This record gives sequence, C-alpha cells and structure tokens, in this order.
Amino acid sequence: MYELGHFIDGKRVAGKSGRVSNIFNPATGEVQGTVALASDAELAAAVESAKAAQPKWAATNPQRRARVFMKFVELLNANMNELAEILSREHGKTIEDAKGDLIRGLEVCEFVIGIPHLQKSEFTEGAGPGIDMYSIRQAVGIGAGITPFNFPAMIPMWMFAPAIACGNAFILKPSERDPSIPIRLAELMIEAGLPAGILNVVNGDKGAVDAILTHPDIAAVSFVGSTPIARYVYGTAAMNGKRAQCFGGAKNHMIIMPDADMDQAANALMGAGYGSAGERCMAISVAVPVGEETANRLIEKLTPMVESLRIGPYTDEKADMGPVVTKEAEQRIRSLIDSGVEQGAKLVVDGRDFKLQGYEQGHFIGGCLFDHVTPDMDIYKTEIFGPVLSVVRAKNYEEALDLPMKHEYGNGVAIYTRDGDAARDFASRINIGMVGVNVPIPVPLAYHSFGGWKSSSFGDLNQHGTDSIRFWTRTKTITERWPSGIKGGAEFVIPTMK
Ligand code: NAD
Repeated sequence: MYELGHFIDGKRVAGKSGRVSNIFNPATGEVQGTVALASDAELAAAVESAKAAQPKWAATNPQRRARVFMKFVELLNANMNELAEILSREHGKTIEDAKGDLIRGLEVCEFVIGIPHLQKSEFTEGAGPGIDMYSIRQAVGIGAGITPFNFPAMIPMWMFAPAIACGNAFILKPSERDPSIPIRLAELMIEAGLPAGILNVVNGDKGAVDAILTHPDIAAVSFVGSTPIARYVYGTAAMNGKRAQCFGGAKNHMIIMPDADMDQAANALMGAGYGSAGERCMAISVAVPVGEETANRLIEKLTPMVESLRIGPYTDEKADMGPVVTKEAEQRIRSLIDSGVEQGAKLVVDGRDFKLQGYEQGHFIGGCLFDHVTPDMDIYKTEIFGPVLSVVRAKNYEEALDLPMKHEYGNGVAIYTRDGDAARDFASRINIGMVGVNVPIPVPLAYHSFGGWKSSSFGDLNQHGTDSIRFWTRTKTITERWPSGIKGGAEFVIPTMK
C-alpha cells in the first residue's frame, strides 16, 4: 500500500485535505494505494508556486528551454522499463503498450525541442512610411491540464510539453485511477533542469477541476476525457474567461470496401478494436463491411481471431490485452453487451464468461464480436470503451459513408480499400477530424495535430503540432515608427493605406 500526494514547487508533498481515492490493481481488483484529493487551498498553493516561477522561465531563452526537453527525453529513454511498470500496474495495459503510451508522449517532447524555431513569429518591414510591424507569441502565463485514465503518460506530455516549452508554468490534474506516472514524469522534468514551480501535479476529483476552472490566475485549460465532462469544462472555463480546448469521447468506424485486402483489414480491426482492451479514444469500435459477401468474409476471418485473443495481467508478456480499468467500467461494459443482445444484435463471440485462474477478482472481459448491429441500438450509439467490436452491414459505399457522417462523434475513421477514387472521395467528404486510408488508428504524429470534430472536441485548436504552440501562446502585434519616420502634425482621421 502506498499513499500518493501531489507534486508542488518541485517536490512531492502529502495531501492535506483528508480526502483520498483508492487506486486499484485492475488485474486483481485489490486496492494497492490511495491518492489524495486536493482542496481549493492545495490547488491555490500550486498556482502560487507557478506564479512565482513563471516570469523567469518565460524570460529564459528558447534554446535553454529546449535543452530541458532534450535531457528529459534522454531520461525517459533511460528509465523506460521502470516507467512502463509504474504505468501498467495502475492502468492494467500490457508493458509493451505502456511503452507505446510513453513513447507517443516522448515524441511530443522531441517536437518541442524545436521551440526556438516554432515560437518565432512574423515581421513586416515598411508596413507604412517608416513603420515596421511585428507579432510575437508570448506565453499565456499559467496553463492547466485535466487528463483521462487511458493514456496516463502520453496525454499529460501532450499538454505540458508545448505549454512549458512556450514559457508557461503548468498545473496538471491527472486521472485519479492511475496518478503515479504523472508524478514520476514531473520528478524527471526537475531532474532534467526544469525550475521548481513550472510543473505542478495536483491530484483530485471534480473539486480540483472546479478549483482550476474558477482560479483567476489560470489563463488556459486543456482537457481530455469523456464528452459530458469535456462539454462542462469547456463551458465553465469560457465563462471564467479562460482559453479552453476540450477533447471528448469517440465511436470510430472502419469501412471495409469489397476490394480491400481482407487479411490486412481483419488484422487491423483486431489491433484497433481490442488493443488496450478497447480503452482508446482512437479504438475502432464499429466495422462497416460494404456488401453481404464482404460482411460474411469479414465475420469468418474475425471470429477465430477474437476467440483466440490472449488476455492477461500486464506481467504476462504474451498478452494481447489486459483487464479494463475498474469494477465500475467492467459493469458498465457488461450491461452494454447485455443490451446489445436484448436489442437483437448477434453476439458472434461472447467474452462475458471469460475467467482467468488466479485473477478471479480482476476486471477482465473477453473479446466480444457483434454482427447485425443497427444504428438505433445502444451499443452503436454509445462509446463502450471496452473490448467490443460491432459490425454494421452496409449495402453500398454511400450507406457506409452515411454511418460515421451521422454519428454524434467525430474523432477518427478509417477506410480499407485498393480503390484510390473511393479513398479520396471518403477523405474529402467525411466530417471527422482524423482519417486513415488503410491505417486503422490514424493518430497523427507529433508535428501534425490531433483532434476530432463534432462531439469529440470543443474549442478550435488541436493538440500537439503547430496548433499547440498557438494554443499555449498569445499573439501581441507591435507597430513601430522611429522619430526620423514621423512627418507632419496631429492626425485626426484613422490612418489607412489609401
Ligand atoms: P472522464 O471524463 O471520466 O475523466 C477525465 C478527467 O475528468 C479526469 O481527470 C477526472 O478526474 C475528471 N472528471 C471526472 N468527472 C468529472 C466531473 N464530474 N467534473 C469535473 N471533472 C471530472 O474520462 P476517463 O474515463 O478518465 O477517460 C475516458 C474517456 O476519455 C473516453 O471517453 C475517451 O474517449 C476519452 N478520451 C478522449 C481522447 C481524445 O483525444 N479525444 C483521448 C483519450 C481519451
């Protein structure tokens, strides 16, 4: 048993609120530790530390800021095994998948090593007689990030790396399910040379989130989690005068055209549907084969593959996927599977009875495969966030395209085909933020930006890529003229370029 507090002003501190939340081991169902839930005063202490440190950090030249990330990347690589173990122990995902989580975060840290170039801005010589005009991108001041359980290393890094590289101080409020890894990352940032107070980790629940959203000294908030909370955070942050980008849930479809390579499509669906037990915002949860014959071939290929999924605790090196995160998540997923059966979908592979010897209290669910799912069913409308793939049969391409187009969510989508015309038409017409052509989980790399459309995202700037530099900075435009360029007396008419 361990007790996790916060990370404020460059060091670990114990929680003082007297409120804690249990941290479970998803494979055994046992409580392995507790995490403190911050009070308003604890959040305020983190903001004070950030406020004291931020001006000097913003004035530190960008090459020096970049060097902290160079060293941090080195430390991440050197400590990869230890970090993956910390992450998997609380999340439940396999060690290799935990390394992927860390590496996708590390890649954004590599991207921001380019901050001297990324934060450069525009200059116009001679915008008017003797007038030069330039824009600069200054840090917003103090930024905050609120993150979900499913990528407890990657998403914090997606937020704090660009925010800090731009000269901001940052307050991270991680998920209370797997809070150890963010604190370890903050320690490594200090080891890499970051001044105390620039990265604080405040653990907590809704109380800590509300304290962030109403604190007058926090200028910008980034959120990733479920859609109802994303909507709430976006609205509350805006009402309190903060800049906000909030990313929500998903229901990602994969269209399989009759000409697709069926082996490739089935392999892609296995990884994208069941990897990390389906607990990914870019998981494929709906497969849409076009035509009855394509659908029959797909079900025939997938069925034995889903039946033979290897499921185990993170310590099982051969496991394809682990348990889901909590008992509540497991119960929610099970009740959605039951609803699918009740509402008439065909449960081709039923993983509900899966049991692992020695881990009977773990939150395991076997892989489930539904066929003949229709858009009115709850399993189609809801983000299940578990190892459940639904097959919706479409008569033709237009009917297939219509499904993700009309769905509430718009995070990711994919098409499998050999037909360039169909792929191009699909990428152009679809109303979804991230599109894969023969790529099942089209998560853009660090130097492009990540974000969905519709109910998957609120706000207008995405994560990482150049969007993140814009989000974490404010533009200031300076118009200057020197005495030798000033002619004549007072002017009472608005200056124009006529
Ligand atoms: P969640 O919404 O339950 O929690 C996210 C964060 O919000 C946590 O830090 C949590 O403490 C906080 N929170 C929870 N309830 C709150 C409340 N009532 N008021 C204020 N704050 C609250 O999400 P989760 O279960 O941790 O993560 C899974 C969800 O995240 C899925 O919907 C998934 O699709 C989504 N997600 C989206 C993306 C994306 O980029 N779009 C990426 C990863 C995960």
